Amino acid sequence: MRKEDIKPLLKLQEVDEEIERVERRIRSIEEDRSRLEEKLSKLKKELEDLLSRRDELISRRKQIKEEIEAEEEMLAKTEKKMSMVRKDVEYKALLKEKAKHEDNILKKSYELDELNGKIKDIEDKLRETEPKVKRRIKEIEEELEDLEIEKETAVKKLEKLKKERKSYEQNINKEILTFYEEARKRFGSRVVVPAEDGVCGGCGIKIPDVLFSKLIKEENVETCPSCGRYIYYRL
Ligand SMILES: [Zn+2]
Repeated sequence: MRKEDIKPLLKLQEVDEEIERVERRIRSIEEDRSRLEEKLSKLKKELEDLLSRRDELISRRKQIKEEIEAEEEMLAKTEKKMSMVRKDVEYKALLKEKAKHEDNILKKSYELDELNGKIKDIEDKLRETEPKVKRRIKEIEEELEDLEIEKETAVKKLEKLKKERKSYEQNINKEILTFYEEARKRFGSRVVVPAEDGVCGGCGIKIPDVLFSKLIKEENVETCPSCGRYIYYRL
C-alpha cells in the first residue's frame, strides 16, 4: 500500500485518539459532578434536618408553656373556690382538683426542662457545625460550577474534532477507511502503527525479516502478519 493513502489515515487516527481522550474527560467530569451533587444534597439535608428538629422542639416548648399557664389559671380558680366553700365534702373535692393541677404543672415543668436541654444541645451543635457545613456547601457549589465550565469547553472541543474528522475522512480511500473503522473497533486502540526494531508497534510481535526490509526500503505500508494492523517504518 502506498504511503500517500495512509498519511491521511494517520491524521484521522490522531483525531480519533483526541476524540477518545475528550470523551473520557467528559465522562469523568460527569462522574465527579454526580458525586459532588450527592454530597451536596446530603450536607443540605443534614443541616435542614437539624434546623427543622430545632423548630419542632421550639414549637413544642411554646405549647408546653401555654399548657402550664392554663394549669396555673385553673389552680388559681380552684384555690379561690376553696376559700369560699363551706361543706367539707366540697372542700375535699376541690383539694383533689388542686392536687391534680399541681401534679400536672410539675410534670409539664419537667418536660419543659428536658426540652430546654434538647434545644440547647441542638443550638450548640448548630453554632459549631452550621458555618462549617455552609462553607463546605459553597465550596462544592463552586467546584460544580468549574466542572460545568470545563464540560462546556470539552463539548465544544469535541464538536470541533468531529468536524475535523469528517474533513479527514474525505481524503481517505473508502476501502481503507472501512478496514480502519472495523479494525479500530476490534483492537480498541491504534490501527496504523510504526514498526521499530523489527517489531510491530501494535501487537509487539517480531515482523519477518523480509517484510521488515521491504518496509525500510520501500517506505510503504504493509499489514502485520500477526495482528493485521497497518505497519510502517517511516512515512
Ligand atoms: Zn502486529
